[in-house]
Amino acid sequence: MLLTRRTTSATSAPQAAGRLARSLSGALGKTIDRRTFLKRSGVTLGAGAVATQLPYNMIGKAQAQDKDAAAKVEVKRTVCTHCSVGCAIDAVVQNGVWVRQEPVFDSPINLGAHCAKGASIREHGITHDSHRLKYPMKLENGKYRKISWDQAYDEISKKLLAIKKESGPDALFVVGSSKHNNEQAYLMRKWVSLWGTNNTDHQARICHSTTVAGVANTWGYGAMTNSYNDMQNTKCALYIGSNAAEAHPVSVMHMLHAKENGAKMIVVDPRFTRTAAKADEYVRIRSGTDIPFLFGLLNVIFQNGWEDKKYINDRVYGMDAVRKEVAKWTPEEVEKVAGVPPEQLKKVAETFARNRPSTIVWCMGQTQHTIGNAMVRASCILQLALGNIGVSGGGANIFRGHDNVQGATDVGPNPDSLPGYYGLLPGSWKHWARVWNVDYDWIEKQYAKGMMTKPGMTVSRWVDGVLEKNEGIDQDANLRAMIYWGHAPNSQSRGLEMVEAMKKLDLMVVIDPYPSATAAMCGMSRKDGVYLLPAATQLETQGSCTASNRSIQWREKVIDPLFESRTDQMIMYQFAQKLGFADQFLGKKDGKQNIKLVKGKGGMDEPEMEDTLREINKGTWTIGYTGQSPERLKAHMRNMHVFDVKTLRAKGGVDKATGYSLDGDYFGLPWPCYGDAKLKHPVRPTCTTPPSTSWRGAATSAPTSASSARASRCWPKTVRTPRVPTSPPATPNSTMCC
Ligand code: SF4
Repeated sequence: MLLTRRTTSATSAPQAAGRLARSLSGALGKTIDRRTFLKRSGVTLGAGAVATQLPYNMIGKAQAQDKDAAAKVEVKRTVCTHCSVGCAIDAVVQNGVWVRQEPVFDSPINLGAHCAKGASIREHGITHDSHRLKYPMKLENGKYRKISWDQAYDEISKKLLAIKKESGPDALFVVGSSKHNNEQAYLMRKWVSLWGTNNTDHQARICHSTTVAGVANTWGYGAMTNSYNDMQNTKCALYIGSNAAEAHPVSVMHMLHAKENGAKMIVVDPRFTRTAAKADEYVRIRSGTDIPFLFGLLNVIFQNGWEDKKYINDRVYGMDAVRKEVAKWTPEEVEKVAGVPPEQLKKVAETFARNRPSTIVWCMGQTQHTIGNAMVRASCILQLALGNIGVSGGGANIFRGHDNVQGATDVGPNPDSLPGYYGLLPGSWKHWARVWNVDYDWIEKQYAKGMMTKPGMTVSRWVDGVLEKNEGIDQDANLRAMIYWGHAPNSQSRGLEMVEAMKKLDLMVVIDPYPSATAAMCGMSRKDGVYLLPAATQLETQGSCTASNRSIQWREKVIDPLFESRTDQMIMYQFAQKLGFADQFLGKKDGKQNIKLVKGKGGMDEPEMEDTLREINKGTWTIGYTGQSPERLKAHMRNMHVFDVKTLRAKGGVDKATGYSLDGDYFGLPWPCYGDAKLKHPVRPTCTTPPSTSWRGAATSAPTSASSARASRCWPKTVRTPRVPTSPPATPNSTMCC
C-alpha cells in the first residue's frame, strides 16, 4: 500500500493533507493531549484503586467530551533528515505534539515510501526518554552542569573576544553542519566571514570532497549529474563503492523499476552487500582496486571498439592519453591486482557498454580512499568514453550522504570558497559584500592581514592547527577555540590526536540537538572550558534543503524547538549581537535591511529563513541558485502530484494558494536555475541534456572568481578528460553513508 501512487484525478497536497488531518482528527480528536492524558490516567488509577470502596451515589454517568476540547490536528510537510534521497514526510501534530508520520504519497522522489531510517524520524520530536541535549551546560571540575543561555552567551563571547584580541580571528575554527538547511549553512559561512576567518568546514570534507574536486576537474561542477528518478531510464547501472540498499534505501526503488523493464544491475564491492543481493552480476574486487578494475573495463571497451567515437570526437579532450594508459590493464593484469577473473571483467565491460544509456553510482566506497579523487576521475572517464554523460538514463549518479550535504557544500561553510563556489579572490569578496549589504572594507578589517584570500584549515586537519608548532602553520596563532556546530568528530580519524588537541584548547563549544561524541570526548579529557548549547533540529524550524540530485525542497516547521533548544539561526544571531556584528549579519545599512527578524522561541528574534533564501538567490549566480525563490519551492511542495515521476517535470498545474503555474518546472528546481523567480527558468533536466550538438569550446573548470563563474554553464562546452590517475590503492573500501 505504501508504494502505491495515485495516477488519476490528481488531488492537490493541501487537499490530501486536509484529508489526512480530517481522518486523523476523527481518530485523534477523540483522544486527549499528553498533559491531560497523564492527569486523567493518574485520576483513573486512583479511582480504580478505590472504586470498590465507593458508595454507588458517588459514581457519575460518563459524558461525551466537549467538542471544543477536541484536539487541534495539523499536518506539516517536511523532508526526512536521515539521508540525501529527500523523502517527503507528512507529520501529524496534535496540540503541538508530533503524534504520527506518513511518507508523502505524492512525492515524486519517494512515491509514498519510507525506509526504516526515515520511519524513525519522529523520535527527534518526542520528549519521553529523549536523548536530546535539553539545556545549556558547562563543564566544571570534570562534570557537566546546567547553566542559563544568558550565562553561556556572556562567558563564551567574552572568551572569544579575548582570544581574538590576543591571537587574532584565526585562532577560532568553526565546524558547520551538513544537516543545517541551506539558509543556516549560508548564514554560517557569513557569520564566520564577519568574525574574520576562513577556518570553517563541514562534513563534506570527509565524505564527498574528493568527488567535488574530481568531478569539477572533469566537467566543471562536482555534483550528481542526473537524478534518482532518472535511473528508471537506465539500461544498465554499475554500483561501485555504493551500498545504496542500506545507505540510500528509497533510491533503490527507482533502480528496481528499471530492472522490471529489463535493466541490468552490476555491483562491484569487496563485500557482498544488500545492494549486491539485488544485482544481476556481483563483482568482488580487492579493497581499493577500483582504478585497475575501471581501467580494465576501459581497455576491453577500446579493444572491442565499443566506445562512443563521435561523442569523444565532439566533446572530450585527452582520451588518447587515457587509451594508452589503460592498455596496460589487460584482463590478466587486472586479475592479479583486483582479483577479478578475466571472463567476468569482459562480461561486465560488454554488459555496461552494450546496454546504453548506462549509469555509474558511487559513494564513500570510492571517495574515502586516500586516492578517492583519482578513483572518481576514473569513473568519470569511463562514462565519457561511452558517451554516457549528458544523457538521460546515463550520468554519474553520485549519492551524497546527509540530507543537506549538497546544499551545505553549495552555499555553506567551506574554507576555500564563499557561497556558490566563489573563490576567495577580492572580486568574489566584493560581490558578496554587495549582496550582504556590508562594506567590503569593514569585512577586510575583520581579517588578519593577507588571510582573507587564503583558504582556511579543513575539518580533517584542525587537530594540526592546535598541535603543530606555530612555524608549521600558515597563520599567526595556533587554534585556541573550537565550535562544533551540528557535527560530531566520530566521522574523522586520528581520534587519539584529536583528544590531545581538545585538551590543549582554551575553549570548546558544542552546539547540537544531542550531546554528541565531542561532548563525551571533552568530558573525558578535560575538567573545564567546554560548553554545550542545545540546538533545535531541522524539524523544529523551516527552510530549504538540497537532495543529492540537487532538487531543493522546503520544510515546514513541524513542532516548536523542544526543551530549551533554540534554532541555529537564532543562536547565530544572538552570538552576532554579543560579538558586535549583528547589523552586518542581517545586511542592515543605509536604511536597508536584507533579512528581517521574526519571532521565534519564547518571542525572541531570529532571522527569517525566506529572506535568507532571497539573499542566497541574489548572489549565487555561479551555479544558478537564483531562481529558486521560497514561493516557488513552497508551491512545489504543495503540488507534488503534478510532477512526473520519471522526468521530475510538471505536467501542468496551478498552485491554488498563489496562482503560480507550475507547468514545465522541474521538481525542486535543481540547480542551475538561472535568472530570478519571475524569469521562471525551467531548469535544464538534471544537467543531462546538452543544449545543442554544435557545442564545442574551451574546457571549463571550477570557478575561481565571480566573473569567470558567471560565464560558466551547467553543461561544459567540451569535457576535459582528467589527468590519468595512476596512484596505487591505499585504504580499504568503505560504503558507509556520511
Ligand atoms: S531513503 Fe533516506 S531520505 Fe528516504 S526515508 Fe530513508 S533515510 Fe530518509
